[in-house]
Amino acid sequence: MNAAEVLSTPLQFLKGVGPRRAADFERVGLVTLEDLLTRFPIRYEDRSRLQSIASLRPGQTAAVAGRLLSCGLRSTRRPGFKIFDAVVDDGSASIRISWLNQAFLRDVFSPGQHVVLFGAVEMRGSGGLQLTNPQYEILDDEEGETIHTGRIVPVYEKVGSVTPKMQRRLVHEALQRLPPDLPDVLPDTVRVRLNLPSRYAALLATHFPPADASLNDLNRFATRAQYRLIFEEAFLFQAGVTARRQALAAEQKAIVPHVDDRIRESARKVLPFRLTAGQKSALKEIVDDLQRPQPMNRLLQGDVGAGKTIVALLASLVAMENGLQVAFMAPTEILAEQHYLNISRLLQASRFRVALLTGSTTGAARRTMLSEVQAGTLQLVVGTHALVEGDVLFRQLGLVVIDEQHRFGVLQRASLRTKAMHPDVLVMTATPIPRTLALTLYGDLDVSVIRDTPPGRMPIKTSAKPESRRDDVYAFVREQLDSGRQAYVIYPLVEESEKVDLKAATAMYDHLSQDAFPQYRLGLLHGRMKADGKDRVMKAFAGGEIQMLVSTTVVEVGVDVPNASVMIVEHAERFGLSQLHQLRGRVGRDRHQSYCLLLYQAPLSDEARARLRAMTETTDGFEIAERDLSLRGPGDFFGTRQAGLPTFRSVDLVRDRQVLEDARREVDLWMTSNPQAAAALAPMLATWEQRFRLIEIG
Ligand code: ADP
Ligand code: MG
Repeated sequence: MNAAEVLSTPLQFLKGVGPRRAADFERVGLVTLEDLLTRFPIRYEDRSRLQSIASLRPGQTAAVAGRLLSCGLRSTRRPGFKIFDAVVDDGSASIRISWLNQAFLRDVFSPGQHVVLFGAVEMRGSGGLQLTNPQYEILDDEEGETIHTGRIVPVYEKVGSVTPKMQRRLVHEALQRLPPDLPDVLPDTVRVRLNLPSRYAALLATHFPPADASLNDLNRFATRAQYRLIFEEAFLFQAGVTARRQALAAEQKAIVPHVDDRIRESARKVLPFRLTAGQKSALKEIVDDLQRPQPMNRLLQGDVGAGKTIVALLASLVAMENGLQVAFMAPTEILAEQHYLNISRLLQASRFRVALLTGSTTGAARRTMLSEVQAGTLQLVVGTHALVEGDVLFRQLGLVVIDEQHRFGVLQRASLRTKAMHPDVLVMTATPIPRTLALTLYGDLDVSVIRDTPPGRMPIKTSAKPESRRDDVYAFVREQLDSGRQAYVIYPLVEESEKVDLKAATAMYDHLSQDAFPQYRLGLLHGRMKADGKDRVMKAFAGGEIQMLVSTTVVEVGVDVPNASVMIVEHAERFGLSQLHQLRGRVGRDRHQSYCLLLYQAPLSDEARARLRAMTETTDGFEIAERDLSLRGPGDFFGTRQAGLPTFRSVDLVRDRQVLEDARREVDLWMTSNPQAAAALAPMLATWEQRFRLIEIG
């Protein structure tokens, strides 16, 4: 068997892995020996220092080695509950060992065996010491090496029925099967330049560290061996991203827009205010892209309220002036409607026609719209994912704007792309994405960032208050409403208990409108309402007829009512940090001082407290995003898997940011300094998408 065959051997070929355990492994994405070997232990334990039994003290965790004097299974008063006891002696003393409820040990141990044990030392009722449920290993005289004890041992996360101990044995067996001349996936030049250990050596030392390895480094995943494996994966990933980027650059647009004075003038006409410096430079980058023969793939990043919409609209105008159509996609119907209202108002003076196409556009209206889109008489279509459904055909789609990308499956981006001859794509996100994540999630995109905000904005004042202070909060809100402002009251809506929460939001609305704010005009908005009902409420709020909007999180992104100055979040402890920041971004959109009041139910968990503290300490979206990422970990950062986060084996997006940066730098260096790089990449990339499970990404 050659090395490649060994690595792709299904786990079922390992001793002790039957169909059931193989299925357990497969459920977490572990199928081959390579999968198992590139997955890191969750931590390491030092079981190397053997202690003499005579020196043991209660409360310690200790490793001892000795001879088994006696052992046997005993029943207890509790029916079916059995204890396996043993006595082990190492010459200095003997100690009692008890394993609870592990009757099978009867077939494992027999007196006279040499064993190594690792576990907690406890004081027995009778006064003697005992080891309870220790890890154990029976020393085989022929085999000098122990794998579970007497060394620094790897601890793996339990997988279904496969215990950490069993995995340790399996990994050990898998390593034995590997040929030491295992080919290296990293280019030699890179490996040599960075002085990285060989792949084989790194795998060995990551799973079964040498005696002199530092436990501390191991547990920080910072040994050279670990670095090398993390780097390897990051390098492959970045190489793939770069290759994709190059492939995109090879595409050609059907029509390449150009910009002249007439178009500049037409843009000036729709612009209701002066752009900020940040908006200007983002717009310039975008318009430069538009005028290139290769399709644009750009991410426009900017905190809530930074003013991304107008930038996208001006870009749209350039496309339309060049005879191209624009698809403007929003993650929810409400947002699509908002964009639609906003954009049609701005484009009123222009000759372009705008339409709204969502899931609730049906029947004849939909048919007419579709035929106009196909005929090209509708130039800009705002919509939800319904825009990418099969029956929407554009005559000449030139630009796709995707708002709040992270709420979209990346899938949609892909399917939109196939709808036209390589349109320009502009992705807007209001979630400031920590740099590492941006590199990995959007590594194939160019990035423009708007860091400033429109002039005259005052920072939002944020405070967190326990529910018991509700009356103060109400009094404050009344003052704000009396001075002409408007307020949001947001209720959490957790999917599993949607009905219950809906009831809570409705009950809250009743309470507020009848008891707390009877003399004010209140409205209720939630996801279960029909589209036209939602629309009516949103319009009434935007128009000022509704003073206080009680809502579930449907208003979370993008909704723009500048006169609203108060955001109250009920059960703030239940929201994620980025979500709270998004909600806060609904206010502070005008010259009024705005407030965000986070009402929480005590007691707070540590994490909830950290979230609320972050909210009160900073309004900087990038800072919030960084804190959120480290609080939650990347898997949860975007709430769902739909974000299309790559599945890494060795890389941890939070822990290994520096390695990801290193890898990106090395890929660039390698590709620019090595004329054969592209050819060398080809075989590497054959399995790239599968390896990172990115098949669904556009
Ligand atoms: P976001 O980046 O969150 O999508 P929007 O595009 O919704 O932000 O803009 C937020 C608000 O700021 C809108 O009311 C918009 O009209 C206004 N706005 C945007 N740019 C400017 C500007 N340069 N000057 C004044 N107001 C602006
Ligand atoms: Mg927006």
